[in-house]
This record gives sequence, C-alpha cells and structure tokens, in this order.
Amino acid sequence: MRGLMKLQKQPPRFKNPFLLPTKTDLRHLINNKWQEQWSSQQQLNHLAKIKPFTALWPSSNQSSRRLEIILTRLRIGHTRLTHSRICSHLLPLYCDHCAQDSPLSLPHIFNCLTLAPLCITHQIPSPYIIILTDNNLRTTNILSYLLDANFLHRI
Ligand SMILES: [Zn+2]
Repeated sequence: MRGLMKLQKQPPRFKNPFLLPTKTDLRHLINNKWQEQWSSQQQLNHLAKIKPFTALWPSSNQSSRRLEIILTRLRIGHTRLTHSRICSHLLPLYCDHCAQDSPLSLPHIFNCLTLAPLCITHQIPSPYIIILTDNNLRTTNILSYLLDANFLHRI
C-alpha cells in the first residue's frame, strides 16, 4: 500500500517503473530542479535578484564580446573595480568621486551622490539594476555613464 501511494505521487510517466523516462522528461525534471535551486538563492546571489528565472536571456548575447563581459560582470555584481583586491591581495579601492569610507561597490558606482547629475544625464534609474534586466536593458546608457564616470575601462 505504501509503495502504491509513492507511485501515485510521481509524475504520470514514472507510474510504470519499467518505462524509462524520455529525454524530454529528464530535461523537464532537471530544469525544474535547477529553477528550484535558483529560487532558493535569490537573497544571496546578485544575479538571481535581477533574473528570477533560469530561462536564457537573449540580451546575454551581444554583438561585442567586450560588451557581453561588461554586462555579465555588472549583472553578477563582480567587477575588477570591486573584486580585484581578492586576487591581488591589495587594499580595496575607494570611490574617486567622493569621500566614502567603505570600499567601492557596484551599488555605489551607480548610487554615488557626487555622480547623481551624471546618472540623470544618462537616464540611470534607481535602483540601477532595473536597466540590467533582459527586458529593460539599455546598454548605451550604461556604457556612456560608466565612460563619463571613468569606470568603464576598469569594469
Ligand atoms: Zn562615490
């Protein structure tokens, strides 16, 4: 009886233990498991905060490899500016534009009060992660802001 109840909870394809799951079934199960794991990381993972689903983002493929790298670094929250100290064992970098006491972070790059007029000029919204999502991606605004703020070549 207990074994029968266990079989009834499984997806229909697996009711008969002698039928092997198809490739489609396995792909579906793997994608569901991946999504479940991804959803559980949303508070810890910077990318998971802006990308709630594991589905492919078309905007991840850009015409330039350099642009893809910049977008990926911004989306995962790890840039040379903010994380190079981990590999180089040097002191962390600080903002060139203001007298902030804490090490430079990606949120500060887009929220620096000294750079607020530049954010307005380049139409960087608050919170800035909005323009990093697939639907709202504005690469021109991001790149021109980073260039004018002198961060682009260090991302
Ligand atoms: Zn600053």
